[in-house]
Amino acid sequence: MNTRQTAPGKLIKGATGDWEVVVGMEIHAQVTSKAKLFSGASAEYGGEPNDHVSLVDAAMPGMLPVINEECVRQAIRTGLGLQAKINLRSVFDRKNYFYPDLPQGYQISQYKHPIVGEGEVVVDVTPAERITVGIERLHLEQDAGKSLHDLSATESHVDLNRSGVALMEIVSRPDIRSAEEARAYVSKLRTILRYIGSCDGNMEQGSLRADVNVSVRRPGAPLGTRCEIKNVNSIRFIGQAIEVEARRQIGILEDGGVISQETRLFDPGKGETRSMRSKEEAHDYRYFPDPDLLPLEFDQPYVDALKAELPELPDDKRARFIEQYGLPPYDAGVLVAERASADFFEAAAKGRDAKLVANWVINELFGRLNKEGLDITRSPVSAQAIGAIVDLISQGVISGKIGKDVFEIVWQEGGDPREIVEARGLKQVTDAGAIEAAIEAIVAANPDKVAQAKAKPTMLGWFVGQVMKATGGKANPQAVNELLKSRLEI
Ligand code: MN
Repeated sequence: MNTRQTAPGKLIKGATGDWEVVVGMEIHAQVTSKAKLFSGASAEYGGEPNDHVSLVDAAMPGMLPVINEECVRQAIRTGLGLQAKINLRSVFDRKNYFYPDLPQGYQISQYKHPIVGEGEVVVDVTPAERITVGIERLHLEQDAGKSLHDLSATESHVDLNRSGVALMEIVSRPDIRSAEEARAYVSKLRTILRYIGSCDGNMEQGSLRADVNVSVRRPGAPLGTRCEIKNVNSIRFIGQAIEVEARRQIGILEDGGVISQETRLFDPGKGETRSMRSKEEAHDYRYFPDPDLLPLEFDQPYVDALKAELPELPDDKRARFIEQYGLPPYDAGVLVAERASADFFEAAAKGRDAKLVANWVINELFGRLNKEGLDITRSPVSAQAIGAIVDLISQGVISGKIGKDVFEIVWQEGGDPREIVEARGLKQVTDAGAIEAAIEAIVAANPDKVAQAKAKPTMLGWFVGQVMKATGGKANPQAVNELLKSRLEI
């Protein structure tokens, strides 16, 4: 059923030979919407327990669900972003199970007729490796509430704030072959959702959760029995969970055992998965169409209008950055990972050497933002300031090294790079006379080194360093190099 070949480097070495890990994912993404899927209660994160609960969410007798059009719109937009088939007719079903945080006794979901059908996501796993992960479907469903067991020694409490919040469940095909691919897939999916604006992708707040299906097999063999690891809520944990679960299954199989299909939980503290419950089959849920809801129907012009209004998506933007700015694909990929970063880059690159700007944004700015744990929208250095620094370097007013100092000053104190360079006398010294004077002083003080340099031209670096030091880093490095070479006769 699945023909994708796994590169030998991705196989896991067991005691009895190589194993291939096969992963499929179900991602639950909370729809960006003010209200819940079938009620007008707030879908906002947080609030006091049970602040955001309508009579519908609490499943009071006689309450009827009414579909929230915004959630439908967002699901269609997301489907378009996943290059997927949009189904003009879909059906809401009841998925029956008992849980204290599910007051209806069933979840309204979509089973046989989801709103979105097959699609695909292109994933750059490394700068050199691209894979395509098939999407099986996307359906709309309700989230459940939350049971709280730690407020009292003898009672459990329930918070229904999340009950009825709209989720998109995005189901992938089992096309993923390693923890690394899985991490890259979720990152890419998150990027697409954030571009579209249909989910904020906030994994800490549970807006994006992954159920990870893992199985192992001998390379080329039929699919093995899978286990589902529920509700993994960080990209790093997704990778760890796959690695430990694959190892666990290989251990059992190599000992002659069999894998039983079950639902497991990943414990990041212990670095292990443990059994939660044996896996239920679809028929255990007694799915049937919800009699309170009509089939969901819309027409093609509605879909076309949504498509026409979609923003430029990450793959298109990346292709455009490569084409328009001549960026290496890797740099383009890094810049488009967040829409805000791409916008920042474009604002800074306008009318300038785009490759130089990309280097500054990726190396200096992103490096510094990561170190401080800041988002680009909160960068103390603006796109205009980066642009001004790049201009100063391109025009030979300052060296790249002084540029970094100016960046640091703007980061710490703010201000205009041009004024900073003027006011602090940071302009590059290109005047040969001034550089020669510095060279003469160093040559006079180090006759032994001058003699060594004639035999060993790599000593030039030492002299360059000394001249730069003597000029406070302001000498033009190229001029220093040339003048030194002629003075030392090397
Ligand atoms: Mn689900």
